[in-house]
Amino acid sequence: MSLYGMKIEELSGIGKKRAELFKKLGVFSVGELLNFYPRTYEDWSEITDIADVEDGAAVCIRASVHSAFQSGFTKTGKYIAKTIVTDETGACELIYFNNKYIDRMLINGNTYRFFGKASNTFGNVSMIAPTFSPDSASTEVRPVYNLTSGLNNNTVVNAVKQAINLMPEKINDPLPEKLREKFSLCDLKYAIKNIHFPENMKALETAQKRLVVEELLVLNLGLRSLKSHKRRENMNALSKDYSDEFESLLPFKLTNAQKNAIKDCINDIKNPEITLNRLVQGDVGSGKTVVAGSVCYSMIKNGFQTAFMAPTEILAEQHYNSFKEIFKNIDINLALLTGSLKQSEKDRVRESLKNGETDLVIGTHALITDKTEFDNLGLVVTDEQHRFGVAQRAKLLSKGNSPHLLVMSATPIPRTLGLIIFGDLDISIIDELPPGRQEIDTLLIGSDKRVRALNFIKKEIARGRQAYIVCPLVEEGEGDLASAEEYAAELMLNYFSDIPVGILHGKMKACEKEEVIRNFAENKIKLLVATTVIEVGIDVKNATIMMIENAERFGLSQLHQLRGRVGRGSEKSYCILVSDSTTENSNERLKTMCTTNDGFKIADADLKLRGPGDFFGSRQHGLPELKISSLADTKNLSLSQKIADYVMKDSQNLRDDAYRGLKAEINRLFKTTGDSTLN
Ligand code: ADP
Ligand code: MG
Repeated sequence: MSLYGMKIEELSGIGKKRAELFKKLGVFSVGELLNFYPRTYEDWSEITDIADVEDGAAVCIRASVHSAFQSGFTKTGKYIAKTIVTDETGACELIYFNNKYIDRMLINGNTYRFFGKASNTFGNVSMIAPTFSPDSASTEVRPVYNLTSGLNNNTVVNAVKQAINLMPEKINDPLPEKLREKFSLCDLKYAIKNIHFPENMKALETAQKRLVVEELLVLNLGLRSLKSHKRRENMNALSKDYSDEFESLLPFKLTNAQKNAIKDCINDIKNPEITLNRLVQGDVGSGKTVVAGSVCYSMIKNGFQTAFMAPTEILAEQHYNSFKEIFKNIDINLALLTGSLKQSEKDRVRESLKNGETDLVIGTHALITDKTEFDNLGLVVTDEQHRFGVAQRAKLLSKGNSPHLLVMSATPIPRTLGLIIFGDLDISIIDELPPGRQEIDTLLIGSDKRVRALNFIKKEIARGRQAYIVCPLVEEGEGDLASAEEYAAELMLNYFSDIPVGILHGKMKACEKEEVIRNFAENKIKLLVATTVIEVGIDVKNATIMMIENAERFGLSQLHQLRGRVGRGSEKSYCILVSDSTTENSNERLKTMCTTNDGFKIADADLKLRGPGDFFGSRQHGLPELKISSLADTKNLSLSQKIADYVMKDSQNLRDDAYRGLKAEINRLFKTTGDSTLN
């Protein structure tokens, strides 16, 4: 669309100053303005009777001004004006602050529509500063945009209206007509008009669906194309598979799921035409480390060096120690490389990597910095690094002479979603736990039973066990939730005065966190009070009990990750979810936690109950920035998948001219990841 070439300043009412504000929001051109979708909508067509107003709900009421405004000043010196409006069912008080002209805008006796959040305390209905329109104005669904200081919603609305009028009669639609017809999607022009100014709620849904599906489709096809580009010549092919020999070094038998995952990897590495580029997904405790170990072993026996990257120093040390044990009678040179080693030791390890002496190096990110060079690196394993970006993965692959890449993740993601999020990787799933694992008992309690739970924790600690208490991550200024520190102080004072308690939260420096975790691992700390930072990378077998406060604030998958910190040893383990939430949805979610320990089942339930917004939203999966996919539901997901399959079949690599627009969109989306392999 050539509207991308038209500067926003060219719209009437947008001068230099306002244009700068739009730029702050990422809008430079008229075309980008059309893609600047509303944050939410106000439905002014749906009128609520004052008598039916629910406390806290955003409503539109139709009411007449019943009395003259009364005004005065608050204690803090704010100008305040109040009036009463009424409909046939009741009365509502309106309160405006710092608006001296409000009594001239709302005329006594006239009828208006008021939109805003209402409160209803025992039948006393009130609204603070609702927006309003004369009742005669057309009823509609109105867009509400993300704003920045100095830019109000009306300015954006006026600009978008002009932009929509500038759209030519026929615009280029990235989705060719035959696709839209086949999969019942509206055309782009209709979608853009209705995402901004929907004729009604139904039209809004139609528009959203079309735009969500298009964005997911573009993402999906882009990732597939990245993947096919990586299917390049294998520079580090295996001639012999040593996985049986590796298994004989273990004190246990591999599960079938582990064997299959190893086989998938070995097959890729043997194939002269491709480079291994695989994600092994398996629940906490499913035994991913030995899967990676086995693949490393085969590579090493074939003369290659291998690198195993962990997200934290402690995890790296743990892996190093378990590999040392496995390889104790085998002639393999292991090394540990982490940031906290002495410089002289680091130098020594780096030297041994450069001259090829070390076969397997285990470490943190320090491993892939420019300073670290290898003689013959054939495989890189990254553990628990599901938050790695697409671009970073691509960069990793450029290290050494196109080494193979194996990514391990303990985050069970539903298959449909995994296919999209990890679209540039092949996937193996370990869906089986080693035999003899104890189920973790999970209980859901209200905060009235919290003291009993704390006493239970005390008893477990007295028996020699260790415990976690998780409080939700607290953003600054967020309500009355205590910060981790205040919260821990309260616990220590009132319940655990004679017990060593540690605190762990995201604002601590990495070295401080490591110190606390180390003390916990060494049993010097008995109770760890933490935010979700403990999600990854703590493996303390003696910790058998976890209590999670305000459990309703967490996603199911996150709860599952957290819970995975207990139940790692042979002792019976417990997880106590504390929640006073009464909404049906959150109750159902928390009950799911109590009924199953299966991460994939939980991920599916999470997807069904919360939608995939979380995966595309704030969480980092290294995907390019998406505009609207956080609105996606499971149906959109599978539809986009279906369309992607269809397009690939219909036109290898989108060569067909009808897909030119789609291809342009893919390039636009992936421009930001810095991966230029798409063409
Ligand atoms: P995760 O998949 O969470 O990384 P680990 O690889 O750390 O799991 O394995 C968890 C524990 O299970 C380790 O102590 C490991 O030695 C053990 N383990 C792995 N595979 C098996 C198996 N097939 N049988 C018995 N124990 C196993
Ligand atoms: Mg692991």
